[in-house]
Amino acid sequence: MAVNLLDFDQTRLAAWFQEIGEKPFRAKQVLRWLHQHGADDFERMTDLTKGLRDTLPALAEIRPPVLLREQASEDGTRKFLLEVGPGNHVETVFIPDGERGTLCVSSQVGCALACSFCSTGRQGFNRNLSVAEIIGQLWWANRAMGRDPKGERLISNVVLMGMGEPLLNFDHTVTAISLMLDDHAYGLSRRRVTVSTSGIVPAMDRLREQMPVALAVSLHAPNDALRDELVPVNRKYPLRELMAACGRYLDSAPRDFITFEYVMLQGVNDSDAHARELIALTRDIPCKFNLIPFNPFPNSGYRRSSAERVRAFAAMLMDSGRITTTRKTRGDDIDAACGQLAGKVQDKSRRTVTRMERAA
Ligand code: SAH
Ligand code: SF4
Repeated sequence: MAVNLLDFDQTRLAAWFQEIGEKPFRAKQVLRWLHQHGADDFERMTDLTKGLRDTLPALAEIRPPVLLREQASEDGTRKFLLEVGPGNHVETVFIPDGERGTLCVSSQVGCALACSFCSTGRQGFNRNLSVAEIIGQLWWANRAMGRDPKGERLISNVVLMGMGEPLLNFDHTVTAISLMLDDHAYGLSRRRVTVSTSGIVPAMDRLREQMPVALAVSLHAPNDALRDELVPVNRKYPLRELMAACGRYLDSAPRDFITFEYVMLQGVNDSDAHARELIALTRDIPCKFNLIPFNPFPNSGYRRSSAERVRAFAAMLMDSGRITTTRKTRGDDIDAACGQLAGKVQDKSRRTVTRMERAA
């Protein structure tokens, strides 16, 4: 079967060109066509020899995920719905914020980790995305968004905070990140690519060794009893181990802090006592906090903390010297907020299944 060139980073593409008897430098040329010009056919690649352009279609293809729908929110947020094989969908969200344009990218269809407040977790795990499917999100968004009048790319930052746990799809995620960082592809700096993890300790160490980019850790609770409940993977990698892994990560991280994400759930993890415990827990880790007011979904069983509670909680963290931001809910009108991705599509496909079952 023909290989999909969107599955390759520069090293792999160079090796592949060698295998087919071509010079490895072809990799750089082809990467620029694929990722900087958004080319989806070989004809456009005018700096390749005519002979190579003619033989490539028999050996390779350029197969991004299928773009099903693009939606724009009133606040400038844009959401892309992509089909990755029959019945499987992922979403990627572009969030403009002043000079910065952040793309939120998914790494898996569903997620196995079953965090109790996350709609992706409720869907269960379906499968890992391929490299082409991960980088394909940036490929599409970049094509759709292009450059600003100064010629700068509109996507300046990527966060792996969409659906799925990126560190449980480690190899594909790392290969996709290598394309994000490659000057012949997207040329982003390590500081502008952030992996968000629920805390898979051994994979955090591997990421530190292989591809140290900015790190966000989904903390959500200041003690093991509560975190076991909210983020069940905590039973495997409890807070003491997680904090130690954060400390090790900082030795190689491109930023000198870890971002701790903390979803604000009314009456569950948002009291003054929780804030005090959180300050003590993170005493030895240079960090920033990002509070995420809970985004509700049907039958979640949780409520969002009030705005006053979030402010008071943030104030306590700030008083302890930690920079604390509260995530604005963006793209609410198009279901593009954290934890809401692909929910509607999933519901629709479930209804379809039910109808088909009834018919059978
Ligand atoms: N699996 C990774 C990355 C994807 S989740 C992780 O857990 O870090 C991205 C962020 O959205 C995480 O911090 C996650 O806890 C948060 N999140 C999930 N569901 C949410 C919801 N319903 N409301 C607010 N934040 C949510
Ligand atoms: Fe998975 Fe992250 Fe959702 Fe937890 S919060 S279920 S790790 S996607």
